[in-house]
Amino acid sequence: MSRHAVVVGAGIVGAMCAVHALRAGHDVTIVEPAEPGGDQAASSGNLGWLSTHSVIPTAQPGTWKKIPGYLSDPLGPVSLEWTYLPRALPWLVRYVAGGATWARVAGTAHALRSLLVDAPQLHAEIAQSAGVPALIARTGVLHVYRSRDAFARDAMAWRMRRDVGVSWRELDADALRRREPALDERYTFAVHVEEAGHCRDPARYTQALFAHALGSGARHVQARATGLRIESGRLRAVTTDAGDFDADAAVIAAGSRSAPLAKAAGDRVPLLTERGYHASIDAPEASPDTPIMAMDAKVVATAMNGGLRIGGQVEIAPHDAAPNWRRAAVVRDLGLELFPALPRKLDPGRVRYWLGRRPSTPDGLPCIGYASATRDVVYAFGHGHVGLSASARTGHVVAQLLSCVAPEIPMAPFDARRFR
Ligand SMILES: Cc1cc2nc3c(=O)[nH]c(=O)nc-3n(C[C@H](O)[C@H](O)[C@H](O)COP(=O)(O)OP(=O)(O)OC[C@H]3O[C@@H](n4cnc5c(N)ncnc54)[C@H](O)[C@@H]3O)c2cc1C
Repeated sequence: MSRHAVVVGAGIVGAMCAVHALRAGHDVTIVEPAEPGGDQAASSGNLGWLSTHSVIPTAQPGTWKKIPGYLSDPLGPVSLEWTYLPRALPWLVRYVAGGATWARVAGTAHALRSLLVDAPQLHAEIAQSAGVPALIARTGVLHVYRSRDAFARDAMAWRMRRDVGVSWRELDADALRRREPALDERYTFAVHVEEAGHCRDPARYTQALFAHALGSGARHVQARATGLRIESGRLRAVTTDAGDFDADAAVIAAGSRSAPLAKAAGDRVPLLTERGYHASIDAPEASPDTPIMAMDAKVVATAMNGGLRIGGQVEIAPHDAAPNWRRAAVVRDLGLELFPALPRKLDPGRVRYWLGRRPSTPDGLPCIGYASATRDVVYAFGHGHVGLSASARTGHVVAQLLSCVAPEIPMAPFDARRFR
C-alpha cells in the first residue's frame, strides 16, 4: 500500500523517517520552514553520540531532593528558572514520578534499549546509502571518573545497563592514559562502551539524509505546519502557513514544536524543552580520540570534523527565552579543564557557541506510534537526550506503521496515550 505521507520537520528524526518511508514505497513531502539540519534544530549541534547504552533516564530515585539545587544555581549541571517553575511543574511532577523507583527506571531502560541496541550499525548503513559513510565512527565512547570509587557510586545505573545487555570494558589509570593521553590525569578510571559510536558532523549528516530523501523522490515544501485536517477519522490535509497540502498520512517529527500538532491529532503530550549548550573550539591543541563524558562535570567532549565540541548539561527554561551564554562559557571552561593542553585564554574567534532544544517527555521515552484521532497520523518526536542515536530505529518503525505492518519492536512504551 503506497500512501502520500507528509513528514513534518526535517531534523534528524524527520529526515530519517522520510528516507525510510520512501524505501517502503511511499510518496513523501517534507514540510520544514527552516534549513534542514540548521541551527534551530537540536539535530545540528548535539554531541554526536550514537549511544547503545544511554538507557537510564535522568530522573532516578531521589531526584526530587535535587530540585532546590536546580533552582538555586543558574549555572549548575541542571538549572531551572524560578519564573518558569509554575509552568514546568506538571512536567516535573511526572518526571520525578517516572524515576521514583528503580523498577520504573528499569522499565524505561528496557524500552530505550530496544531503540538503541544497534544504533551505530543502523546509522552506518544509512550513511552509506546517503553517500556520507565517513561521518559515522565506531570507536565506542568513554565515561571517565576521578576514581574507581566514584564509578562504584554509579553502580546501580551500570548494573541496569548490564541487565539490558550493554557490555563495556573498564580501564585503569594506565590504560586510560595510553588511550587518551591528552585527558587530565585527575581522571583515573574509565568505562569504554565499545559497542557505541559517534557522528563526526550531526548537521551535515542531517543535511545528507534530507538530500538523500530528495534524491529518492521526496518533495520539500518550505512552510510551517499549523495543523491537521481530519474528517471522519481520516487525515485529509496538513495545514501550513503556505496553504493546505493534501495527504493521506502524516508523520509528526517537529522536535520540540510537536505538541500542538499532536493536540490536533487528539493527544495532549507533556513536551518540555530541556535546553543545552555547546562550545566548539577550532583547531584545538588537544582533543580526545574517543568521545568522552566526564561523569563528575556531566559534560561531553567529542572531536568533530569542525573542531572540538564540548557540551551537555540541562537548562529548563521557556523554549524561546534568550540564551544564557554564561552557561555555554561554563561548558567551555569545563572542557578546558578536561584537556590541560588547551590554552586557558582562548582567542574568542576560535570558539563558537550554540543553544539547542531537546524535545523531552517527562518519562524519557519518545512518542512513536499512531495518533488517537486517526492511524493516518504517526508520531515521531520527544526523543530528548537520545534523538540522534534513536532516529535510525525510529525511521524503521515509522515506515512500518505507515505501511500498516507490525513494527519490529514492541511499541507500547512509546504510545502517546500513556500520558492520559
Ligand atoms: C546539547 C545537546 C547535546 C545532545 N547530544 C546528543 C547526543 O550526543 N546523541 C544523541 O543521540 N542525542 C543528543 N542530543 C539530543 C538530540 O539532538 C535530539 O533528541 C534530536 O536532535 C531531536 O531531533 P528531532 O528531529 O526530533 O528535532 P530537531 O532536530 O529539533 O528538528 C525538528 C525540526 O522541525 C522543524 N519544525 C518545528 N516546527 C515545525 C512545524 N510546525 N512545521 C514544520 N517543521 C517544523 C524545525 O525547524 C526543525 O528543523 C543532544 C541535544 C542537545 C541539546
